[in-house]
Amino acid sequence: MIPVAFHYIRARDIPDALRLLREGGEDAKLLAGGHSLIPMMKLRLATPGTIVDIGSVPGLAGITHDGMRIAIGALTTHAALAASRELQEHAPALAQAAGELGDPQVRNRGTIGGACAHGDPSADYPAVMLALDAAFTLTGEAGTRDVGADAFFVGMFETALSAREVLTSIAFAAAPNSAYVKFHHPASGYPVVGAAVNLTLAGERISAARVALTGVGDAPFRAHAVEAALTGAAVTDAARLDAACRAAAAGVDARGDAFASAEYRAAMADVFVRRAVAAALQPR
Ligand SMILES: Cc1cc2nc3c(=O)[nH]c(=O)nc-3n(C[C@H](O)[C@H](O)[C@H](O)COP(=O)(O)OP(=O)(O)OC[C@H]3O[C@@H](n4cnc5c(N)ncnc54)[C@H](O)[C@@H]3O)c2cc1C
Repeated sequence: MIPVAFHYIRARDIPDALRLLREGGEDAKLLAGGHSLIPMMKLRLATPGTIVDIGSVPGLAGITHDGMRIAIGALTTHAALAASRELQEHAPALAQAAGELGDPQVRNRGTIGGACAHGDPSADYPAVMLALDAAFTLTGEAGTRDVGADAFFVGMFETALSAREVLTSIAFAAAPNSAYVKFHHPASGYPVVGAAVNLTLAGERISAARVALTGVGDAPFRAHAVEAALTGAAVTDAARLDAACRAAAAGVDARGDAFASAEYRAAMADVFVRRAVAAALQPR
């Protein structure tokens, strides 16, 4: 289908983008890589009157690591994240998610900022962001605020971003024992179930764990009971690790569709959490 008519404006910088959003009124929308917004416009599920293109705003793409925290600019493409040696070593869950997402065309145009701002309950990154305990920097005309991943993903296509804010960067502590694994939908490639795990090790034991899932319910979520059960486990105690990964989707209304029933998704949540734990414990 063809989208409804719209005005297209390219923003020079963030203040310019914020001004254009305000002037565009209620139905103005930001455009980054266009790989979620344009398909929605073609289906007329989104009908913005004004498109504010931030794709060439300088300073919004790139990965920095100061030894402790890693910061990712919102315009960083999936391909750049997948190829980053820094991430492969210090936050492998994110590099793995980026490398498994979509196809080469999507990975070369789509951005992490657009993917997170879109709030798709079946997207890959939300689980990774929850597992990494990422902080999202949101800039509006009134100033800048940081929102933790636990508060950022609110529900189906809903995030903490207001219509007048730009997501500028995402930051998190290095997570060398992290991993993301997914059950690809055979047609779309989106996760039927995606599991992200971030383990902190103290010698041979897990001293802290963050475990999150996407694709299962109406929003990404943390598997708190699994996190608690993993904490304190010896990395060599296969039986305890296996038992800890059970009922990962407990308390969540799993979605069912023509491809996978709710029961199947919930069962696969356990399988993929177990695989993610094993991957996070692989020696590097
Ligand atoms: C064929 C195909 C396969 C795909 N497969 C997968 C997959 O397997 N897994 C997956 O997770 N995703 C998948 N995607 C989605 C892909 O990851 C998109 O790149 C991503 O969802 C959106 O990023 P974008 O930069 O293209 O954003 P856009 O489409 O430009 O924008 C998406 C939304 O975010 C808003 N936005 C964009 N940037 C910002 C910002 N900085 N601040 C505030 N709001 C912003 C826009 O206004 C819009 O509402 C697929 C897409 C396609 C077309």
